[in-house]
Amino acid sequence: MRDHYDVIVIGGAAAGLSAALVLGRSRRSVLVVDAGEPRNAPSAGAHNYLGREGVAPAELSAIGRDEVAAYGAEVTAGRIVAASATTGDGTDPVGFSVTLDSGAVVTARRLVVASGAVDVLPEVPGLAEQWGRGVVHCPFCHGWEIRDQRIGVLVTTPNGVHHALMFRALSEHVTAFVTDPSLVDDTARAGLAARGITVVDAPVARVLSSHGKLTGVELGSGEVVELDALAAASTAEARVDFLAGLGLVATDQFMGDFRYASALTVDPAGQTSVRGVYAAGNVANPMATVIASAAAGTQAGAATHGDLVQADLAAALATAGARAGA
Ligand SMILES: Cc1cc2nc3c(=O)[nH]c(=O)nc-3n(C[C@H](O)[C@H](O)[C@H](O)COP(=O)(O)OP(=O)(O)OC[C@H]3O[C@@H](n4cnc5c(N)ncnc54)[C@H](O)[C@@H]3O)c2cc1C
Repeated sequence: MRDHYDVIVIGGAAAGLSAALVLGRSRRSVLVVDAGEPRNAPSAGAHNYLGREGVAPAELSAIGRDEVAAYGAEVTAGRIVAASATTGDGTDPVGFSVTLDSGAVVTARRLVVASGAVDVLPEVPGLAEQWGRGVVHCPFCHGWEIRDQRIGVLVTTPNGVHHALMFRALSEHVTAFVTDPSLVDDTARAGLAARGITVVDAPVARVLSSHGKLTGVELGSGEVVELDALAAASTAEARVDFLAGLGLVATDQFMGDFRYASALTVDPAGQTSVRGVYAAGNVANPMATVIASAAAGTQAGAATHGDLVQADLAAALATAGARAGA
């Protein structure tokens, strides 16, 4: 690891490695720092990634690390714990310094933040242990794998009824567990009934598993409902604590009045409100799938390179002007 790079990429999964790939191929010096906890790590396979359908998340990252290394990008295991602005370098007005959990301090002309999001789960005993396996959130990511099975859906948000209908497209055996009756009005109940979805008006007290496999849920009454899978909504919180020194914070994301996530605000190229700091993937878009996160990383990497090209031009013109004036 050197002391200084053109670009430091924070996070080395789909978004970060895609940014590093385009930057490496553009002959930029790049350091990727990765804490090694991609959001989909609990899942056996990442789906809807064309060309690598069903690849294990860790395998996709390993392939990406090899690909970026082939273009000279460095990848190091570690966690960025702090970031701050420096005065820049010559004619380039911006620059950054980051601190790793090892205590190492590294500087760069630009930052790409690709640190993803953390899923905050409903507080139901036994649920977290099954997250990404028996407990799922995304019909596109896991639906095919649980088609025709007995699927429960925890209706804990205003989007819960839609969630149940999405899973009903995959199985005829769907049960909606309604914790808060105000989330399901008469029209919604009529829709659930019309689609043959069983409604249980009782909170789930516990998720049950046997030998690592989800087997059902236990209601507050003690009644057990046997299931093969349970769908639940998480709140996706952007991983941004280390950006406080740059004044960058995540903002709340809403569906109607319902807060479902937090994320950094970026323009279409991935530029954040701090000049020279770009962001891509779930940290800026909690709904982005793996392939969409990779695409956003490519876009942010390309924009970062374009930004540096302009800074290089300004430096070259200043040098040429100085020579002419001498
Ligand atoms: C259970 C589950 C299953 C999913 N299945 C699918 C699927 O099948 N198909 C699909 O398309 N999408 C799926 N998704 C969504 C998918 O996880 C995201 O689209 C994807 O992970 C976003 O990629 P990313 O690169 O933005 O972030 P992440 O994959 O979360 O990667 C961020 C990386 O940054 C690192 N990091 C964080 N903070 C720091 C720091 N301070 N310093 C250094 N490194 C840091 C993390 O450790 C991690 O390695 C699933 C999500 C979940 C929760």
